[in-house]
Amino acid sequence: MECTFCKIINKELPAEIHYEDDNMIVFEDINPSAPIHLLIVPKKHIVSVNEMEEEDRDIMGEMFFVARKVAEKLGVKRSGYSLAVNVEKGGGQIVFHIHMHFLCNKKD
Ligand code: 5GP
Ligand code: ZN
Repeated sequence: MECTFCKIINKELPAEIHYEDDNMIVFEDINPSAPIHLLIVPKKHIVSVNEMEEEDRDIMGEMFFVARKVAEKLGVKRSGYSLAVNVEKGGGQIVFHIHMHFLCNKKD
């Protein structure tokens, strides 16, 4: 499959992985737009928010839960961070495997 994020999930492409479990992987964005810029990515290949099925409803919840875990691990819970999901080209999406951006400027 010609999907960059599936390749990272399958360890066919390298990435700086911060967290991984059965359903999710978190790695550093290759072109960071903040001092801490991570991508929270479900292992299931879902193209975008628009392509989510009924059975994928829990995935968004899990993405938020993992974001909280990562914030705790990095020590940025107090200082705060931004979470963003780009949807389709017009929404700024360039990788068509659903993901959440985790952006943070400073530590607690
Ligand atoms: P989007 O604009 O689709 O929401 O964000 C995709 C993000 O993936 C971009 O910020 C881009 O820098 C990042 N990205 C694209 N290709 C790679 C890659 O091969 N490795 C990593 N770690 N990040 C990537
Ligand atoms: Zn994929």
